[in-house]
Amino acid sequence: MRYISTRGASPALAFEDVLLTGLAPDGGLYVPETLARIDTARMREWARLDYADLAAEVMAPFVEGFLAPGELRTMTHATYAGFRHPAVAPLVQLGHNEWVLELFHGPTLAFKDFALQLLGRLLERSLARSGERVVVLGATSGDTGSAAIEGCRNCAGADIFILHPHQRVSEVQRRQMTTVPGANIHNIAVRGNFDDCQEMVKASFADQSFLPPGRRLVAVNSINWARIMAQIVYYFHAALALGAPDRAVSFAVPTGNFGDIYAGYLARRMGLPVARLVIATNANDILHRLMSSGNYARAGLAHTLSPSMDIVISSNFERALFDFYGRDAARLRELMERFRAGDVVLPEQIMQAARAEFASFAVDDAMTCETIARVFEESEYLLDPHSAIGVRAARECRGSRAVPIVTLATAHPAKFPEAIARAGVPREPALPHYMADLFEREERCTVLDHDLGAVQRFIGERLA
Ligand SMILES: *Cc1c(COP(=O)(O)O)cnc(C)c1O
Repeated sequence: MRYISTRGASPALAFEDVLLTGLAPDGGLYVPETLARIDTARMREWARLDYADLAAEVMAPFVEGFLAPGELRTMTHATYAGFRHPAVAPLVQLGHNEWVLELFHGPTLAFKDFALQLLGRLLERSLARSGERVVVLGATSGDTGSAAIEGCRNCAGADIFILHPHQRVSEVQRRQMTTVPGANIHNIAVRGNFDDCQEMVKASFADQSFLPPGRRLVAVNSINWARIMAQIVYYFHAALALGAPDRAVSFAVPTGNFGDIYAGYLARRMGLPVARLVIATNANDILHRLMSSGNYARAGLAHTLSPSMDIVISSNFERALFDFYGRDAARLRELMERFRAGDVVLPEQIMQAARAEFASFAVDDAMTCETIARVFEESEYLLDPHSAIGVRAARECRGSRAVPIVTLATAHPAKFPEAIARAGVPREPALPHYMADLFEREERCTVLDHDLGAVQRFIGERLA
């Protein structure tokens, strides 16, 4: 399997190089050159597999040349054995043909564990072979940081530096990052906001001369292909459990950077019968506005009750656009260059292709609270605010009630107790028992100014 850039001006890469690379040098994102098409007979066999075995089947073509099928299976079993539910990704029924897929049983209680727990192991394998030591550097508004730290903590060849905005992540989120022991883990709280953190990370990738000789940076943000790949699996797992390939299933996905829902789109392109794919956004609704009007236009960042979806631009959407443009990289590059300079209008033909694949709905904070409260009243099920946005969008966009619809529940409600209280739900979401001591664990974190030189000096000193 080879990977090509959406902008067409970088050489194709093998899986291992894509794993260790972020953006392509031409500014594009890597996508698989071809997708394996799974026939219905094969899918019926897959319906018998447990999560870890299915994961190995789905991902095998993507890692070809890097891992043999048996090695991959050993790795997926080790990865998903660390999840605290025997089904790994259980389905819970909310109503008639209405389900949530609980993706929060991993070590940091959000769906990002599905990809980052695996990514840490893939990285470890690659570094063990090459003998290289790398520096994992990332910025987080909450969930990515803890999942990346948990995923990479046992990776002997990696030192991990995660920047988060000082006093702007929830206490649960901060403690999930700062209480992880390990000499290779470094938390930096930046006196600034998330964008300041991200900017410093970007600048560091662009000029890595501050690193000791022989070291390079590795990105674990959501544009990393390995993360997308791991997320394809649970679409198959859920749909097969609900009757696919003999029955189509719809999905609603709380969307920020478009990584999670893009994986669902790929599952459909691999042959999974997916009826509707609903993009569920919060007030940061660039994609919903695009789908409604054809205008691809930035808006100011809104701080919402669902902070993990607070984005201005959804980077991974470029991967879907690449297909809507018939994989014409030159035309897409021209569009993205115009978009970098300002807002753009997409041609009607492109919008038709987009609307054939995705429905969309935007949910503001008031609707989020209303949905948390309503679902609790209906069935005493507690939704976190991100998942509530998905459920609301599912209910607005599902179409026929004869088709099952699955909302991806992307975080455990205990991660966002403030939103649940705001919704007026008379029950406090409890942390799972294995995390009950989170508030007693010792924290390690360094607070630094929003100053690139200071952050890079800190990293250099820690690596020395
Ligand atoms: C990251 C995140 C999202 C958004 O996922 P994308 O892949 O960026 O679209 C939604 N919900 C939660 C809880 C998250 O952590």
